[in-house]
Amino acid sequence: MINEIIEKTASIRHEHPSDYKDKDGYLVCHKCHKRKEMDIEYPKGSKKYKRVFITCDCDKEEQLRLKQQKAKQQHEQMLQKLYAQGLTDEAYRKNTFEIDDNRNEEITRLCKQYVKNFDKLKKEGYGIIFYGDTGGGKSFYSCCIANALIHKGVRVLVSRLSDLVKNRTSGKQDSPVNVKNFDLIVLDDIGAENYTPTAYNIIDDIYRSNIPLIVTTNLAPSMMKKPKTIEQKRIYDRVIERCCITAKVDVRKTRLDMSRKNREQAMAIMGLT
Ligand SMILES: [Zn+2]
Repeated sequence: MINEIIEKTASIRHEHPSDYKDKDGYLVCHKCHKRKEMDIEYPKGSKKYKRVFITCDCDKEEQLRLKQQKAKQQHEQMLQKLYAQGLTDEAYRKNTFEIDDNRNEEITRLCKQYVKNFDKLKKEGYGIIFYGDTGGGKSFYSCCIANALIHKGVRVLVSRLSDLVKNRTSGKQDSPVNVKNFDLIVLDDIGAENYTPTAYNIIDDIYRSNIPLIVTTNLAPSMMKKPKTIEQKRIYDRVIERCCITAKVDVRKTRLDMSRKNREQAMAIMGLT
């Protein structure tokens, strides 16, 4: 133990040219005027004493500053990596709670509760359908959730379904996006495409992996229940089952509701009952 202290203290010796010795001969910090040395019995029981370095207040502060700086750098690196992997679109990146004008308090609250309770919601695979007219802020709110979760270290993919289809089918990519590498998938503006088998495969991968899915769409859930094609039906069925929270986002008014299944549980998890 004593050996360890000596080795440890020796390694954190921070002697400054302006430090001085006090009347008893101990090194004193020129800034905080605390001793930087003490005597310890070594070896223990020998009645022999060895002078070792100790940390003064400013050294402690400096060590804390360096530790915080390192943590900040690590956080920045993590963010860069997560954004490069899943959210590269600058327009999506700037949509954060910080610039929310709170016009839809109820929706903002839902989004914040979703972020706060994400771990529990993820286990159940619960996602959200944001629907309503263009310009109401569906993409905005889904991106607020995405950005907030990325800052918490969650692997989020934000994309249009059509871009994911292109990514999978173009063959130009060395490594096509694998939805299974993410903790949350946000698909912006679904319902506008002519669905291909690849689009279905992507949705099915998300569905089978139990990855929470957030979608934005102009289609009300009631419209999704009346698909026009078999491809739409296969996709919408999965989206509706997985996104048990539905939120109408409108320029004028908003409405929260839940598909009957899982409704109570999702609300309870978010403390919104
Ligand atoms: Zn000091």
